Amino acid sequence: MYITVAGLLGALLGSFLNVVISRGPRAWGLVETNGKPSGLALPPSQCEACGHRLGPLDLIPVLSFIALRGRCRYCSAPIGARHVIVELLGAAIVATAVAIHGISMAAALLALVWLILLALSVIDWETGFLPDALTLPLLGGGIVASAMGYAQPLFFSLAGAAIGGGSLWLIGFLYKRFRGREGMGGGDVKLLGAAGAWLGPLALPYIALIASFGGLLYVGLMTWQSGMQTTLSTELRFGPFLAGATAIAMILPMPA
Ligand SMILES: [Zn+2]
Repeated sequence: MYITVAGLLGALLGSFLNVVISRGPRAWGLVETNGKPSGLALPPSQCEACGHRLGPLDLIPVLSFIALRGRCRYCSAPIGARHVIVELLGAAIVATAVAIHGISMAAALLALVWLILLALSVIDWETGFLPDALTLPLLGGGIVASAMGYAQPLFFSLAGAAIGGGSLWLIGFLYKRFRGREGMGGGDVKLLGAAGAWLGPLALPYIALIASFGGLLYVGLMTWQSGMQTTLSTELRFGPFLAGATAIAMILPMPA
């Protein structure tokens, strides 16, 4: 029962996450607004294609998408599968967090971290940016949660943030030095710093391993699918893999 309610709450949070994912990059000046809404709260939800204001019947998570067959009620423009996927993942995230930790602060924090990681993944996937407006609060939140007795001992949290961010920064610095081009975005540095703040330095090798394995698997699949046409210099957006690995590490038993 609790878990069902948690899932419904998660679907609503996923619906809000879709607004953040669509409008955030415009609100934070990362992409052109092109006249589209950029406020996170205002104007109220509207179709991204025709601008028609959406009513309550258009905004029921998952169900509206199915009932409208994935199209805007007013202009028939496709809504995009991302919306329903994020709503379903939102539901899965909150339900899983409550299933693991019950109704508790630990569940709320786990769900919050997972939801932010989900938003970061999709935004990076769609725009190539990991916004400071999400990575920095995630990093700071890990340190604050640790200081309050959640997550890690405070020293571990600080060391994790410094080592996570610092190691990736160094790799990016050396890559740029020797290959003469940007290999790692600053957003990745802050994201691994945030992972370290929540999970401590000992989790970082596992996160790096899982993320790299995921990235390699993805590149392999893409190369295979395109008939070996993909060159390795094709820019790989690493954020979703880093965020995914961090999400997994949040519930992996870590050696201490
Ligand atoms: Zn429309």
